[in-house]
Parts: sequence; structure tokens; C-alpha cells
Amino acid sequence: MSEAFEHIVVGGGISGLGLAHGAARRGIQTLVLEAAERVGGCINSQSFPACGGYWVEAGTHTCYNSYGHLLDILGDLGLMERLTPKAKVSFALWRHGQRQTIFSALHLGELLLSLPRLFTAKKTGLSVRDYYAPGLGAANYRDLFGPAFSAVICQEADDFPAELLFRRKPRRKEVLRSFTLPQGLSEIPLALARQPGVTLRTGQSLREIRRDGEGFRLLMADGQELSCATLSLATPPDVAARLLGAPAGPLPDQAVVGAMAGIGMREIESLVLAVSTQALGHLPPSAGLIAVDEAFNAMVSRDYLADGAYRGFSFHFRPGVLTPEDQEQRSCAALGIAPAAIAGLARVHNRLPALRVGHGERVACIDAALAGTRLGITGNWFQGVSVEDCLTRSHQECERLFA
Ligand SMILES: Cc1cc2nc3c(=O)[nH]c(=O)nc-3n(C[C@H](O)[C@H](O)[C@H](O)COP(=O)(O)OP(=O)(O)OC[C@H]3O[C@@H](n4cnc5c(N)ncnc54)[C@H](O)[C@@H]3O)c2cc1C
Repeated sequence: MSEAFEHIVVGGGISGLGLAHGAARRGIQTLVLEAAERVGGCINSQSFPACGGYWVEAGTHTCYNSYGHLLDILGDLGLMERLTPKAKVSFALWRHGQRQTIFSALHLGELLLSLPRLFTAKKTGLSVRDYYAPGLGAANYRDLFGPAFSAVICQEADDFPAELLFRRKPRRKEVLRSFTLPQGLSEIPLALARQPGVTLRTGQSLREIRRDGEGFRLLMADGQELSCATLSLATPPDVAARLLGAPAGPLPDQAVVGAMAGIGMREIESLVLAVSTQALGHLPPSAGLIAVDEAFNAMVSRDYLADGAYRGFSFHFRPGVLTPEDQEQRSCAALGIAPAAIAGLARVHNRLPALRVGHGERVACIDAALAGTRLGITGNWFQGVSVEDCLTRSHQECERLFA
């Protein structure tokens, strides 16, 4: 016997929870199935009990007043009063094993000569490198902007579509320009999962989806069977392709499955550290490090929200380059501390899609196959990887399924 539900969302990251929120607001009871033991996916405020609950973001660290769908959700959840300003701190460069200023890598003459091209060139159909290197100057792109863009998306940015890296969105000027929450951004997925109309089950990995008349039958890894009238997938694209592409699955069209399976994934080995403030007296507050030719793309600090006792840092390493011990050594070298000074340490495996030029065609192919079905698909692999990009897609899918 399978348990029956009106709507099931698979994947409890911000995309899945955003879609569950939209459905619940329309009166659709929604069950969210999450494979991990916690919700939030890449939104993950790592708390260190041994450090009095001091937390450090292991993934998403900043949301902005241009995140309109997120702000609507925060309003619905009564979280607007909890928005907390971030102190202004700047990034530094980490190059040749040394901390350097951003300005030291800037080729000003080249920038001034190149900039007019940036204002006239179109992003459409161009990669980040092909759009920005002519517009900022090849040396500027190599020494500063290329590494900075890679730091933003935690992967090599050269081949990423320029139009999906930054997208201009209207700002809500009455809201803090960038913000966090007192217990970190994980407050958001936790509140989404606790709202009326949404039921969360963690530790629930979906293994197979079968068509079941007009609806769907879900076979879970632990042997349970669930069924639903409407199904929404909010997993990474490789997982979605595997789940949908099975012969008895709901989308056995190989072109569509191929469009999803062809989206590469970047694995990120994040090392999250809490260090006593005393041990870091020599280190001025900063937003983090943009790394050039390093084993990590970026380090993001928690100096934007000071704490008397601790400071926090997340180093986002490329996979398989350093052993865990060497990652720890490298991070300590960048902070100028001995490993003994580390008060809290966590290792987190993050994953992000590696989008490529021509991505819009993949999305169009997927959307054509979904039209008229009770199957929704959302994630950070449609509009772009930011939290707002995820929620924009979730909002669109919610409208299509339930409007
Ligand atoms: C290090 C880092 C820093 C970032 N910084 C920012 C930032 O500052 N600002 C910003 O806007 N964005 C940032 N991002 C991007 C943003 O956090 C992510 O793109 C977004 O959170 C992804 O949400 P998602 O729900 O689409 O995917 P995910 O968060 O990956 O969630 C997918 C969920 O599906 C679950 N799942 C997978 N397979 C199954 C299965 N078979 N059954 C059930 N569940 C399954 C996973 O466990 C996971 O919880 C950052 C990302 C990273 C990695």
C-alpha cells in the first residue's frame, strides 16, 4: 500500500521549499522529501556547539534587496524583522601564498581603454571570458576579474554563460541592501519547512519514479512507496535525469533526459572553520579571499557579523586537489594561524551546476516536455545559481502547476 499525497516535492533545498511554499499558500498540502538529515541544501549555517553555537555559512552567505521572490517569502513567514545588516568589509586577493589588495592586481590603463566595449557588447550567447575579457582587458581578466567571478560561483567561470552570472533585478530600496539573519541564513529553510501546509521528511532518498495513471508513484530507497497527483523535482540535474529517464518513468523522452544529463556538476569541498578571535589579532576583518591559481576558489569570512569570541571562515576547495589534512594546512597558512588555534571544524560537500553557453536551449527542451503535465522541475539549473534565480524558477513552476 502506498501513502497518497496531493503534492510531493523531492529535494529540500531553497528551490524545493520555495515551490512547497507557493503550493501551500494556494491551499495545496505538500510533502517535502529530503535525502539529507537536514533541510536547506546549499543554505547551510554550520553551528559549532563547542563554540557556544557560533555559526559560519558553509554555502550561501549573502542575500540582497534585489531578491524579490525571497523578500515576498520572508514577508509571508514574518521574517522581515529578523533581517540583519552585514558590516561593510572588503575582499582581498590570495596570490603566490600572500594576501594582496584588490587594487594591486588592477591594470588601470587597460581597464579605461577596454571599458567602452563592455557597455556596447551583448552578453547573449557569450561565455564569461568572451564577454568580460575584451570589456575589462585581458590582463585584468586574468589577474583579477576571472578569479573574482570564479569565487562568486565557486568554480572556473570562463565558460559559464555571461548572461547567467549576474542579472539585473529591481531593488527594494526600503530593505537592507544585503542581509543575513541572527542565526544565519538557515533560518529561512527551517521556517519554510515548518509552515502550515508543508510537511517535511528528512533522510528520505527517492530511488525511482513510475507513472501511475494521471499521477506518480515514488519508490524510496528504504522500500516505502508514496503516490501523488502532482510531483515536483528540486534535485540537481544529474539526479533528476536519473529519476526521470527510467523506462517506466514519467519522461522517458531521451532528448529531454539528455538535456538534463548534459549539465555538468561541480563538486566543492568546503572546509568551515571557527577560530578564537584572540588567535587572529594580526588579521584585519575582511569579507574573504579571492584566490588566484590556488587549490581553493574562494574563502568567505563571517567578519560581516562580529562575535566577541570567534571568527569564522569557509574555504571552498576544488575537488581532489588536496588531501583533507593539506586543506587544513593551506587554510591555516592563509589565516596565519597554527592548526591548534582551530576551535571548530566542519567539512561540507557542496555541488553546483556548471552551466554553459546555449543553456537556454536545454531549458526550452525541458519546458516543452513538461507543458501540460503534472510534473514540475525546479532548481539552480534553470535561470542561474543564485537563491533568487532558484526562487524565480520555483515561482514559475508553481504558477504553471497550480494557478
Ligand atoms: C559555497 C556556495 C556559496 C554560495 N553563495 C551564494 C550566495 O551568497 N548568494 C546566493 O544567492 N547564492 C549562493 N550560492 C548558490 C545557492 O546557494 C544555490 O544555488 C541554491 O541554494 C541551490 O538550491 P537548490 O534547492 O536548487 O539546490 P540544493 O541546495 O542543492 O538542494 C537540492 C536538495 O535535493 C536533495 N536531494 C538530492 N537528491 C535527492 C533524492 N534522490 N531524494 C531526495 N532529496 C534529494 C539534496 O540533499 C539537497 O538538499 C552559493 C552556493 C554555494 C555552494
